[in-house]
Amino acid sequence: MTSHQPVPLLDLRPQYAALKDEIRIALDRVIESQHFILGPEVEGLEREIAAYSSCRFGVGVSSGTDALLIALMAMGIRLGDEVITSPFTFFATAGSVARLGARPVFVDIEPSTFNIDPALIERAVTPKTRAIIPVHLFGQTADMDPLMQIAERHDLIVIEDAAQAIGAEYRGRRAGSIGHMGTFSFFPSKNLGGFGDGGMVTTNSSEIADRLRVLRNHGASPKYYHRLMGGNFRLDALQAAVLRVKLFHLDRWTEGRQHNAAAYRRLFTSANLVETGDCAGVLGRDFPVALPYEAASRRHIYNQFVIRATSRDDLVAHLKARGIGHEIYYPVSLHQQECFADLGYPAGAFPESERAAAETVALPIYPELTPSMQEAVVAAIAEFYGAR
Ligand SMILES: *Cc1c(COP(=O)(O)O)cnc(C)c1O
Repeated sequence: MTSHQPVPLLDLRPQYAALKDEIRIALDRVIESQHFILGPEVEGLEREIAAYSSCRFGVGVSSGTDALLIALMAMGIRLGDEVITSPFTFFATAGSVARLGARPVFVDIEPSTFNIDPALIERAVTPKTRAIIPVHLFGQTADMDPLMQIAERHDLIVIEDAAQAIGAEYRGRRAGSIGHMGTFSFFPSKNLGGFGDGGMVTTNSSEIADRLRVLRNHGASPKYYHRLMGGNFRLDALQAAVLRVKLFHLDRWTEGRQHNAAAYRRLFTSANLVETGDCAGVLGRDFPVALPYEAASRRHIYNQFVIRATSRDDLVAHLKARGIGHEIYYPVSLHQQECFADLGYPAGAFPESERAAAETVALPIYPELTPSMQEAVVAAIAEFYGAR
């Protein structure tokens, strides 16, 4: 069990090897057609992602970042508006708000799920608040029912940042189908990743879908008559063709990720590194590691398997020395980012987000991971914490 096998955080090559022929055929179809921007492949993907996410409409865009940006643009978010979101997320969630001149207003996270804490949202609402962007971090949805109730009470738009959560469920509802819009990313390391950048906005509103389609093409409708101030946020057909092939396999990969998460739980438990009872994903005094918490009635799709670890930075140095893939998502809470200094949040403003930034590390979870690779990961961690 103390094999010193190097394990990558993510290796996309075995996935490609298994799909190579299918993908090449799909790419050839696009190349033969010489139809590279939007068109039938993109429309096909839009229908398929919308159906997969239980939404009426999907609008393909150039990235998950642009999906957020265009979703906010479609609702007319602008200078002077406030948008409530989590400080513990990828930069793009808040960056897209700020790029429109609006103000990101952060609300701290639940320590168990790392997602925005609905109990703290209402006190952040002001007359300028226009929208909430809950992030379904690491593949598990935020607590959407109380959040939607608050949004309704204050007439706020809800945009789900589902970049890490395609196929995740909250009480039987798919990520991206609960708010007014859902935004997805097809960045290669996401559960459904393309051969480059890509994204999608989902919605159940035909009016919003129309606006998104116009906005992604410079606001033109018809061509060369610019109704709105848009941009080039188009998805290309080669990406759509790859993603349509991969979507077919997504549920099997998700099962693989869930299977690997369960295997980690067994391995960490038998190595005596974690509490066996329900510790709700936070560190106690008696065990050095806390495993990801799965909230009730959710389908966690494990885009990342993120643990909390005592002496995290020393553990990370040890993992690096042992060749065990890992990443800190995210080392700096957004309210402490240099570019957001003008928002004026002091250190300590969001203690749970800051704690998560200091305690967490992601371990390899991709579907093709083998049992011996997972054993090597846990063995390296057990070695660091010593005999217990
Ligand atoms: C990846 C990601 C994005 C941005 O997606 P890109 O396709 O990389 O632009 C936005 N939000 C979250 C939470 C993400 O993980």
